[in-house]
Amino acid sequence: MLQSRALMKTTASKKLFEAAQKLMPGGVNSPVRAFKAVGIQPPFITRAKGARLYDADGNAFVDYVMSWGPMILGHAPAPVIKAIARAAARGTSYGAPTALEVTLAKMIVEAFPSMERIRLVSSGTEAVMSAIRVARAYTGRDAILKFDGCYHGHADSMLVKAGSGVATLGIPDSPGIPADLARHTLTAPYNDVGSLERLLEAHRGNLACVIVEPVAGNMGVVPPRPEFLSRLRQLTNHYGIVLIFDEVITGFRVDYGGAQSRYGIVPDLTCLGKIIGGGLPVGVYGGLHKIMRLIAPEGPVYQAGTLSGNPLAVTAGIETLKLLKKPGLYRQLEERGRLLSHGLTEAAREAGVAVTFNRVGSMMTTFFTPGPVTDYASAKKSDTEAYARFFRSMLEQGVYLAPSQFEGVFLSTSHTTADIAKTVKAARTAFKKSKG
Ligand SMILES: *Cc1c(COP(=O)(O)O)cnc(C)c1O
Repeated sequence: MLQSRALMKTTASKKLFEAAQKLMPGGVNSPVRAFKAVGIQPPFITRAKGARLYDADGNAFVDYVMSWGPMILGHAPAPVIKAIARAAARGTSYGAPTALEVTLAKMIVEAFPSMERIRLVSSGTEAVMSAIRVARAYTGRDAILKFDGCYHGHADSMLVKAGSGVATLGIPDSPGIPADLARHTLTAPYNDVGSLERLLEAHRGNLACVIVEPVAGNMGVVPPRPEFLSRLRQLTNHYGIVLIFDEVITGFRVDYGGAQSRYGIVPDLTCLGKIIGGGLPVGVYGGLHKIMRLIAPEGPVYQAGTLSGNPLAVTAGIETLKLLKKPGLYRQLEERGRLLSHGLTEAAREAGVAVTFNRVGSMMTTFFTPGPVTDYASAKKSDTEAYARFFRSMLEQGVYLAPSQFEGVFLSTSHTTADIAKTVKAARTAFKKSKG
């Protein structure tokens, strides 16, 4: 134990974390980065390339966080970095329209035919917040429905039974959100068609929209039951409720055209982020023209952004999408995903640890519970202490997983079969250590 710890140096990161905590809440700019749920201090990262992260102490890790999803091509892909550098030389922001925005918008609309009109913003949070605003304006209704354990960014209305960092830290509802606002957000269990039917019937006429992660990624990865999304589509059509797919993770991840392409369900509005910015800050919302035409200046719903559509982020997005069009790319990601989950399943079985693997393509979670994990309640049955022990052992062996049970593992096209073999080998030790 002591020996394996000694392999990983932490002096420089510890010093940086100490300084950071005197300057930023918890020493970080986004909560889960502080590693609280896994009981150690976070490494401070100095650079990244391909599937590798390097920290201030000179440690190298095989990265499965991939900046929480955006880096599907691996870190610092040469064509994207070159294009960003060329764009930067021409100026980083104009606050005026560019041809680049037209190019990216066209690529998005082609990939997501349900998005007849789109608007670029700077984060997933902003995309969701704006989509909800336009859904409320379009229907003239206030109430919205989200699912327990789904995370849709940190806008006030969405921090009710949210997943991700909120789940990790066990904050039920964030303080600072007026009760008058939160009461308009209804919640239902994920994958539960019965409760959905009852809620929509009971609140018919009040609901502006239902927002869903079509593959949940923020309570750990939870795939939709086959009938869940199709019934959701039928019911929202029936009651005239706007259906919003939050594809901030799944867009260009589970398929080029996202979960809506993978499962063949067409939402009214879609939110994108993460991959679409190629590692720079971009979000997108869009959908049916009859709804999106309400956005200013075409319509009265106000939404704006100083850096929206800035040439650097848009260039990174365009170059990333171009590379994602390579034939066979999603098949290869699927294959690598299968290889990794198969290896981890075997390693857990050998170690005699009861876990549940959920995977959709290149996103997956190892839940430390016999399962099945189909919603937030079953995800929360996981042994988070066992996960923390597993996580720490993996990190010491050079594998960087999400520092929380309630997040996904993300593969990139840079993860080789050798990386996966190394990961599975480390997991054999780590599953044993997870038993405490
Ligand atoms: C990450 C995420 C968001 C928020 O995006 P930010 O860019 O972090 O604001 C919204 N929805 C989902 C599904 C996400 O995973």
